[in-house]
Amino acid sequence: MAAESIGHNCGLFGIAGHDSAAYLTYLGLYALQHRGQEAAGIVTSDGERTYIHKALGLVNDVFQPEVLDRLPGTSAIGHTRYSTTGSTTILNTQPIRVNYQAGTLSLAHNGNLTNTPRLRTQMEREGSIFQTTMDTEIILHLVARSKAAAVEDRIVEALGQVRGAYSLLFLSKEMLVAVRDPFGFRPLCLGEFEGAHIVASESCAFDILGGAYVRNIEAGEMLIIRKGDIETRRLPQSVTSHACIFEFVYFSRPDSWIYGEKVDKVRRRLGKHLAREHPTEADIVISVPDSSNTAALGYAHESGITFELGLIRNHYVGRTFIQPGQERRDHDVRVKFNPVEGVLRGKRVIVVDDSIVRGTTSRLLLRMIRDAGASEVHVRITCPPVAWPCYYGVDIPTRKELIAAHKNVEEVRDYIGADSLGHLSLEGMLDAVEGNGDMCHACYSGQYPVPPDDDLSKEALERR
Ligand code: SF4
Repeated sequence: MAAESIGHNCGLFGIAGHDSAAYLTYLGLYALQHRGQEAAGIVTSDGERTYIHKALGLVNDVFQPEVLDRLPGTSAIGHTRYSTTGSTTILNTQPIRVNYQAGTLSLAHNGNLTNTPRLRTQMEREGSIFQTTMDTEIILHLVARSKAAAVEDRIVEALGQVRGAYSLLFLSKEMLVAVRDPFGFRPLCLGEFEGAHIVASESCAFDILGGAYVRNIEAGEMLIIRKGDIETRRLPQSVTSHACIFEFVYFSRPDSWIYGEKVDKVRRRLGKHLAREHPTEADIVISVPDSSNTAALGYAHESGITFELGLIRNHYVGRTFIQPGQERRDHDVRVKFNPVEGVLRGKRVIVVDDSIVRGTTSRLLLRMIRDAGASEVHVRITCPPVAWPCYYGVDIPTRKELIAAHKNVEEVRDYIGADSLGHLSLEGMLDAVEGNGDMCHACYSGQYPVPPDDDLSKEALERR
């Protein structure tokens, strides 16, 4: 369940051509905090030098006014991190900044590469020394090794050697480069604020500045922003776009644009399709806040059943201290959610949620809803069962931990203690994201657009 949060990938923000670049990047990252809470970092450039600050923690903890004062310049890139590769240490925070023969280059990455083990081993054999355990560093090594003269050509050459998911922001002293991998797994969009060009994972980062959304950055598209101009190039590897469908289901904020579409609209359609596929007699529809709110409204609207706020979410959950012996998950769920007894008592309740991962959290949450007096609990999920791991930057547990990999829907229903359980079908989900072309749905279907290197799947298999 949304209660059982799936670790996200990362959030990116960049700006070129504004005197308050660091401060605006801080605000942009603040709006993207939901995409990663482990660390945050900003690099700025004043055209002569670059300046960097990054640390573990939330954006607000990492960037105090005196820190931002030490980041002068008119262009910047920033990153909020959730670690999907590499452990959570200060070394593994981003952006990564390196000095190489052609100057200084910084990089922020959202996504995971799929041919990392082979590339890394090969480069280490050839003498490369890595500072971090992140796959992102490999890209910088490849840029530094390129013989091309222009930085943008070096980047294109480097990206020709990596496979997998990457939305990237590069910052040199003179320019900002934004690029999405040819499959377009992770989102990236272009905006404008007071004459400055801005880029971000989601458009909610533009809204916080009072900026405007301009457009989606296409799969395989590279934007070179220099001296106020934008040059567009296409990566030579031509494939069909396979943007991550889970961004619509769960990750992205409903007030954002991603892939050129409003998340709110798609999420509402997911709820409507779910109501058509899995109708049931009930008194109220509730959501597991916040990520399922919009889909639950869609379900309620389509079914004609009243939407109620049956669960209240505590928004101020940080890292809570757990007493020895206390069940971590039990504690986590109770800290995060509280059922509203006055709404639930005596009611037949439809609970709309966006995923069941391990099932343990769903089971606890349903017990709490029943304890609050619900007479029936029907669970409706806005996507098919999650049964496969993600190799493209989302921290979905191994197959061993995914309940849907080992139990059928009826067994899962029994395990979580629901009166009925219905998942939106793959066809229904794809129908709801109408107009978005081919999308990645590998965590539901096992159909991977980019098969991971043997080493990577072996590594994943060992963890299973
Ligand atoms: S496997 Fe799932 S989470 Fe990963 S990119 Fe594909 S749809 Fe998104």
